[in-house]
Amino acid sequence: MKKNDLLQIKIEAMGNAGEGIGKIDGYPLFVKDALPGDLAEVRVTKVKKTYAFARLERVLEASPDRTEPRCPLHRRCGGCQIQALSYEKQLEYKEQKVREDLIRIGGFADPPVFPVLGMDEPYHYRNKAQFPFGRNREGRIVTGFYAGRTHMIVPGTDCAIGVPENKQILELILDFIEKHGIAPYDETTGKGLLRHALIRKGFATGELMVCLVINGRSFPHVEELADRLFEIPGMTSFSLNVNQKNTNVILGEEVIPVRGQTYITDRIGGVSYQISPLSFYQVNPVQTEKLYRTALEYAGLTGGETVWELYCGIGTISLFLARGAGQVYGVEVVPQAVEDARRNADLNGITNVVFYLGKAEEVLPEKYEKDGIRADVIVVDPPRKGCDSACLETMLRMEPERIVYVSCDPATLARDLKILCADGRYELSKVQPVDMFPHTAGIENVAQLFRRKI
Ligand code: SAH
Repeated sequence: MKKNDLLQIKIEAMGNAGEGIGKIDGYPLFVKDALPGDLAEVRVTKVKKTYAFARLERVLEASPDRTEPRCPLHRRCGGCQIQALSYEKQLEYKEQKVREDLIRIGGFADPPVFPVLGMDEPYHYRNKAQFPFGRNREGRIVTGFYAGRTHMIVPGTDCAIGVPENKQILELILDFIEKHGIAPYDETTGKGLLRHALIRKGFATGELMVCLVINGRSFPHVEELADRLFEIPGMTSFSLNVNQKNTNVILGEEVIPVRGQTYITDRIGGVSYQISPLSFYQVNPVQTEKLYRTALEYAGLTGGETVWELYCGIGTISLFLARGAGQVYGVEVVPQAVEDARRNADLNGITNVVFYLGKAEEVLPEKYEKDGIRADVIVVDPPRKGCDSACLETMLRMEPERIVYVSCDPATLARDLKILCADGRYELSKVQPVDMFPHTAGIENVAQLFRRKI
């Protein structure tokens, strides 16, 4: 097999990034946009020792699970990977993936995985988007989405999984910067001002936030832009974020308020949260409520427990748990998120929560060694890379009755659960996948471990 070969293959499986996988003489080919069940004509793009990549040229016989995707850009844009697969099948594949990772990476023979909790209406679910600005080949200013794995902008303001307001806001900004001759940022030269527009919406409150990421410290005619943005119903927060570095990281560290609050407020399950531009907040509020309710159920609180929540962000899960616990301690590494978390506790009149700023793998061992802290329940919700081993070791030494692991990556979840269950003192009792990211390959999970009585 060599590059540019045109081949016919039957797609049999789905890869981690939602790509189709088919085999030729036992040699796997990864084909973006091809679905299990397709008979496809593909062109080889890259050949490796034990596998190859190919591009989908034509679907010769469509998989029975194919459906008409809502978004015309679904193949070009890097945002969604499996919009052409029926939603029912998406959920089946995600459940299968979680199970396979727990078996293959976690070493669990028969992991207790429930069917995925899906959405009734799996569109327009995202409360946040970050749109890059740049120029197309003709030199016109564009905004939209990055194509998969590149920084090429696929122009588009109307996203099938985003909020409808995105379009109005982005068109207003495009019109404004053209009128005033404001240049978009150019990654190759490092020149130009406007890098990204971060848009967030509180689904329960209708509040809208716009934060423009700029390669500078001020924005021309910013008051006029604020006037126009604030004509949009729901707009309550407009700010600038300074990012003058040549980096892929979207947001810089400094936020300059322009008009309204520097945060928006949202509510999940009766708890109110204020969210700053720099703080992490789950992107799918409808599913987040199901996720947090599951975490609360798995924590099994009866009223007096001491609970530690590591990687707590703006305190969302901590505040959810606080109502049923004796005392909750949260740990989070982003200073603005900890500020939000403390303010959110006040906002809800919750007094039995303390938030610590720092790395979970440093704060927890330190508090354990120095202050001899204890825990009945430990909840973790780490980023994709999972928990640090120093953190896992301390958790085991603290001997909580239950551990609740919330995870956005089944592979690192499986790796960490294997460590936590290694010596047999903890048992994996249930895993509930929740579909936070319909039409993408992502899947979130809540796992419960309990301590065996020996
Ligand atoms: N539980 C929260 C946040 C989960 S996202 C929610 O549901 O909204 C993971 C969070 O972990 C982010 O807020 C991130 O800033 C934080 N984080 C990343 N590395 C960390 C570390 N080493 N120690 C503590 N927090 C960390």
